[in-house]
Amino acid sequence: MSRNPRYDILFEPVRIGPVTAPNRFYCTPHALGTGNMMPHTRAAMREVRAEGGWGVVNTGYCSIHPSSDDAPLPNCRLWDDEDIRVHAMMVDAVHRHGALAGVELWHGGSGTGNRLTRMPQMSASGISSDSTYPGWINLTRSRPMDKQDIREFRRWHVDAAKRARSAGFNIVYIYAGMNFGPYQFLLPWLNKRTDEYGGSLQNRTRLTREIVEDMKEAVGQDCAIALRFSTDELLKVPSQAMESEAHEIISMLSEVPDLWDVKSSSWVRETASARFTEQGAQEPINSFVKPLTTKPVVGVGRFTSPDAMVSQVKRGILDLIGAARPSIADPFLPSKINEGREDEIRECIGCNICVSGYHDCVPVRCTQNPTMGEEWRRKWHPERIAAGDPDTSVLIVGAGPAGLECARALGQRGFAVTLAEARDELGGRVTIESTLPGLATWARVRDYRTNLIQAMGNVDIYRGSLLSAQDVIDFECDHAVIATGAGWTREILSTDGYAISGFGSDRVFTPDQVFAGAEPEGPVLIYDFDHYYMGGCLAELLRQRGCEVTIVTPANAVSAWTFMNNESVNIRERMIELGINTVFEQFLTGFKNGSAELTSIYADRSVSSRDCGSLLIVGIRQANDELFQELNSDADRLADAGVRSLRSIGDCRAPGAIAHAVYSGHECARTIDAGDSVTPIAWERPRLSL
Ligand code: ADP
Ligand code: SF4
Repeated sequence: MSRNPRYDILFEPVRIGPVTAPNRFYCTPHALGTGNMMPHTRAAMREVRAEGGWGVVNTGYCSIHPSSDDAPLPNCRLWDDEDIRVHAMMVDAVHRHGALAGVELWHGGSGTGNRLTRMPQMSASGISSDSTYPGWINLTRSRPMDKQDIREFRRWHVDAAKRARSAGFNIVYIYAGMNFGPYQFLLPWLNKRTDEYGGSLQNRTRLTREIVEDMKEAVGQDCAIALRFSTDELLKVPSQAMESEAHEIISMLSEVPDLWDVKSSSWVRETASARFTEQGAQEPINSFVKPLTTKPVVGVGRFTSPDAMVSQVKRGILDLIGAARPSIADPFLPSKINEGREDEIRECIGCNICVSGYHDCVPVRCTQNPTMGEEWRRKWHPERIAAGDPDTSVLIVGAGPAGLECARALGQRGFAVTLAEARDELGGRVTIESTLPGLATWARVRDYRTNLIQAMGNVDIYRGSLLSAQDVIDFECDHAVIATGAGWTREILSTDGYAISGFGSDRVFTPDQVFAGAEPEGPVLIYDFDHYYMGGCLAELLRQRGCEVTIVTPANAVSAWTFMNNESVNIRERMIELGINTVFEQFLTGFKNGSAELTSIYADRSVSSRDCGSLLIVGIRQANDELFQELNSDADRLADAGVRSLRSIGDCRAPGAIAHAVYSGHECARTIDAGDSVTPIAWERPRLSL
């Protein structure tokens, strides 16, 4: 297949200072959860994107000095020459595929905790930018930078830029955004200085200008200097000369950097999930930049559609299509467009599981792309997989995310695959959950896989086929894979951590009952003991249906876990907007005659009651593993039928997020012919030579 000429513009080279990007696909700096501690993993995670056609591949934030340390979050660093080697590994990997490598040099100023290095934070005026944001509270406050500090601050950037050049990087960033060092000088409410670095806008931009010019002088012959700049806050600051201070800063520095990388000041807003923003949502904060500079402009927008990308370029919004999440979900997105295979793009669903990986301080993982983070450790490639034996038959029972991914990957390997699904529709939980408010993109988990599977001659799909253990036995397959999912129970844990039940009233519902068509009578009390999206999404759904809704939870926030994937603020705002009531820090301990008994999580265990028409328990999920258990309990029966292996995968094995189910299905497909063990013991691990 060949490329659709409509997309030719995306494959034009773009000059960036002294270097040239081979196309407009630009993998923006983003944290990977590896830091310098996992150089092989990092190099492989970046390399695969260069291989997949991204013309520029950047590191995540890279500290230039120990006074900027984000521990325990895994940032990378270029503190001294010893740090060059681990970066060179990534640069070489990226260069092998003809892409440019960039490094996001970073000093966090007061926006970082320095928990590991224990150096005082520094900032323009000693005002700590993030100190009021609960998740990032530091006990320390920053100190104002004196002139010597400013001189050193500039020198650290230059030294790091030289090291970056030694590592082979082609693009070197200065980070004047997102509440980090130089950005704090730009904001009038954080910069109260009375010297030449404070006061007028010209003075507040002085440090940023100086650093860009210093870096240009030091490495500008060889490397492009990119300026990463946040516009959203400064767009609201009026200026006498132009529409806003953001406009004025860009005009003043217009031709100083070689590249403008424009973004939001808030990671939470910038990475808003698909539940809250559409593709291209950054346009209001980056579309004004291009008319103010002749230098190329890059920005993000969770772009997965080549038409949307072309539109950005043609309408003069962006020169380079920046991507973090779309490149995680599909490292080969550019190649697929180039080869006319757009319908094979594994589109990001905007769920932000990747973000949670970084917050967990582990390599980012992805709902759509189970190989992300496993490229080096398990040698999983996002597009390639070892061929299997076409005469070996595999029966997969259940076509949710786990079963579909397993079927897709086994089909790709060439096995003779049969996929049986009880329902008429494929997709299991994603088909159901994608009907919830804001979750429509989740259907992409199903669509990407069914699209590929349906074109495979070696995968047969049987819909409307509820299989029993005897059916599996009668099928006489070589391998049986049970992917029958999980269900919501009415079980929750008590104040003492014991499972409690006793919610048998017909006024008590589970999410599965709502999905099956039940219409709980309002007012509805939702007890959220799950803490991810389900409680909040069902609250939205029932509110849309006109019910009065109250969410009760023992946590201190709605969907408390979503702090990890940057959704919590948006969810809270949505609840307020829709008039959904919230009651925090209460256990549900009983339900009788339309009244829920609530017990405080605190030591006094004070008890109260709340009247409601219905109680919806978003409680504990339990595996639907009866089929697996029955088959697993009779090894002779399996052996007699010639079944060489039996496995359970996905929620049937251990209920979790969709990402876990996809991963489990993929792992099964990779290892089905590798013997009994599904537990990888031969992972690559970085080893120290002492
Ligand atoms: P996962 O997230 O692990 O993929 P899901 O709950 O999304 O799990 O999907 C499980 C699928 O298995 C559902 O579509 C369900 O209809 C199907 N299923 C459950 N039991 C059987 C069975 N005995 N035979 C065929 N399909 C089944
Ligand atoms: Fe997109 Fe979700 Fe994958 Fe992140 S985890 S890249 S948001 S699909």
